[in-house]
Amino acid sequence: MGNALKFYNSYLELGEEFFERVLPQKVPLPQLLLWNKALADDLLITKDLQEDHALLAQYSTGNILPEGANSIALAYSGHQFGHFNPNLGDGRAHLLGEMIDTSGVRRDVQLKGSGQTAFSRRGDGKCALAPAVREYIMSEALYALNVPTSRCLAVASTGELINRGLAKPGAVVTRVAASHLRVGSFQYFAARGNTKALHKLVNYAIDRHFPEINNRLLSEKNSHQHDEKQRILMFLESALDKQITLIIEWLRIGFIHGVMNTDNTAICGETIDFGPCAMMGTYNNEAVFSSIDEYGRYAFGNQGKIAHWNMARLADCLIPLLNVILEEDDEKSNNEEDALAQVERIIHQYTPKFDEAYYAMYASKIGLNKVNSDIKELITELLSIMQSHALDYTQTFYQLTKSLTDTETELNEAVGEWHSAWRKQLQYCGVSLIEAETLMRLKNPVVIPRNHHVESILSRCEQAILDNKSENSENISIISSIVDEFLQVLRSPYQEISATKNYQDLPEDDDQYYQTFCGT
Ligand code: AMP
Ligand code: MG
Repeated sequence: MGNALKFYNSYLELGEEFFERVLPQKVPLPQLLLWNKALADDLLITKDLQEDHALLAQYSTGNILPEGANSIALAYSGHQFGHFNPNLGDGRAHLLGEMIDTSGVRRDVQLKGSGQTAFSRRGDGKCALAPAVREYIMSEALYALNVPTSRCLAVASTGELINRGLAKPGAVVTRVAASHLRVGSFQYFAARGNTKALHKLVNYAIDRHFPEINNRLLSEKNSHQHDEKQRILMFLESALDKQITLIIEWLRIGFIHGVMNTDNTAICGETIDFGPCAMMGTYNNEAVFSSIDEYGRYAFGNQGKIAHWNMARLADCLIPLLNVILEEDDEKSNNEEDALAQVERIIHQYTPKFDEAYYAMYASKIGLNKVNSDIKELITELLSIMQSHALDYTQTFYQLTKSLTDTETELNEAVGEWHSAWRKQLQYCGVSLIEAETLMRLKNPVVIPRNHHVESILSRCEQAILDNKSENSENISIISSIVDEFLQVLRSPYQEISATKNYQDLPEDDDQYYQTFCGT
């Protein structure tokens, strides 16, 4: 068949201290469960290979490495719930390399759940099937909702049972991300006082994610002397902007990541590490579902503040690097602001930038494309009504949208008065009902991956794999029959298709007892 995949390995060029070379652990019975054809097409994976499920199962469990792949586990540190751990790293993931997609973008291809590495600590290096399928479903949903996210190319079962309290079927996820550089990757070298490696990593991240920084500096010829310092500050600012965009998009759709540790914060601004994530049903700024998030550090409404804190941790890493660069700079002038002050200036921009994006996002959710103090008040009022009357977040915006052109729409009484103020504001801003509706339909999903539907699908998948002992039967068709309809609906989140109504219902218990877990 020849080589149907083309891999690159730019991370290897950084040097051995950035990773461990380690092969995935072999598994007894690799079977493909989910294959993301749209993503595979985008990665230019040939039709021949896409039809060879047996070979794909070998590749996507790591039993066979595709030609050109170079399996490594990345080193990183991280603040977990505010506590610094210098020694994390990929404890159950293997980066195979990068593929270039149809738009020319370089994307990491990584196996997760593929066995132990030097960074496994006490972990078994494995992943259970349900969390693997969960990551697939949630990332596809986010992608369709236009939220920046890593995606899953495949989920394959391993034929093993792994110990998660109970015996659970094991699986491997093939994850595709713009890169797996995290805030924790920078912390790893900062914690070791290795400014040389840090500098390499900054350069790598700029080349890969923010090439416009280099272009901008090239065009500003005069700034030549301070290029390096400038480049690093621009890197921080760009990474911060990406985080703001990401969190605002999470808030727009009601996503709670659940474990925004610095090792789970990708520099490229994509959602990664879906462990204990959940969707908010009833609007509640303090909504938390993760069993280990006792104090609500990663609650729905705290995510903006946490991303700010995480960016400050990235900034901490860059200060020693900037100091070294400033010392080396012979031309350094006496009135040079010190590195700390310059970095602080960028970090202080976070809150005003975030607030601006926050109100602009909510304005768009109510059909307005500008923000002023009256509109801010209107937004705050709506959120407060939703909070105090425990209204469903998605449903409320969905009904408000419908109410513009369909006078029969049943609206909750609690929004009655607000509704008239809102309509007046639309009129005052000269926004027609059709214009408002069009904007609102782009910003307010008709369906989200509600927790109870996700969980019910995951249990059915798990049970089906446990029940199916036959080596010959095609697990992919069994799993497809369970997930396909849901995925089809989630892939069209702004438009009702025939099956949408099967997934719009609210959970019976209002998700009161719903809990998510990290131990995946
Ligand atoms: P996470 O909470 O999934 O982001 O993981 C935090 C850290 O624990 C990372 O360094 C992971 O690689 C590691 N880890 C999580 N689960 C396992 C496991 N089953 N085996 C080994 N390492 C793990
Ligand atoms: Mg992680």
